Amino acid sequence: MERRTKIYEGKAKILYETDNPDLVIQYFKDEATAFDAQKRGIIEHKGIYNNRISSVLFEYLGQHHVRTHFVGQLSEREMLVKRLAIIKIEVVVRNISAGSLSKRLGLEEGEPLKEPVLEFFYKNDALGDPLINDDHIRLLDLATPQEVRAIRKRALLVNGLLREFLDERDLILVDFKLEFGRHRGQLLLGDEITPDGCRLWDKQTLEKMDKDRFRRDLGKVEEAYQEVYRRICSP
Ligand code: UDP
Repeated sequence: MERRTKIYEGKAKILYETDNPDLVIQYFKDEATAFDAQKRGIIEHKGIYNNRISSVLFEYLGQHHVRTHFVGQLSEREMLVKRLAIIKIEVVVRNISAGSLSKRLGLEEGEPLKEPVLEFFYKNDALGDPLINDDHIRLLDLATPQEVRAIRKRALLVNGLLREFLDERDLILVDFKLEFGRHRGQLLLGDEITPDGCRLWDKQTLEKMDKDRFRRDLGKVEEAYQEVYRRICSP
């Protein structure tokens, strides 16, 4: 499968058409951004780690009957996926308080949540991805109520599966962001699952092993991605 016309270039990935209209190639870059792209940088080899990490996690979810856009890993930086009409909602699932939740509700970072908390953000750069609820989703026609119900259920199922998988690799899944899309009438999990969009803490030391190292200038950014890659992708 070869790359054809570029469809879209995002902050961390480029999407290309293929000769099959149902399939596209996601190309993973080393570029990293944070704070609405005000902070920019390169995390050496990130694209390679993220492509592999995401491929392994999508494969694992597929084995557990979660429908995703993943078709296969094509090369170090390329993943073949089903073409989606992306739903403009960022779905965040949280197990431990951190980031914007801690700020918004005044919770200490690292406080375990009684049960997983699910949040929706409107995927809109110009507005800075605001927090939205079901009524806003209906108002903006982002998804149908059935889709929202399915997304909620699917996101919590993914949380349970990923938590267990990562726990076995000594990683705590603090929170993460998912995106969904439509493909030939089916709701599929899309985008990527990587340390760019997940908070992962080492189970023993609670050390941050994700993009917060870049966001907060904690150093050893590439090393953290490499270690997550090693724990998730080693046979
Ligand atoms: N997240 C993401 N993309 C975004 C915003 C958040 O992937 O545009 C992820 C982030 O990596 C974290 C989770 O979603 O794992 C929750 O992020 P939060 O709302 O705390 O936002 P932050 O304070 O990190 O911007």
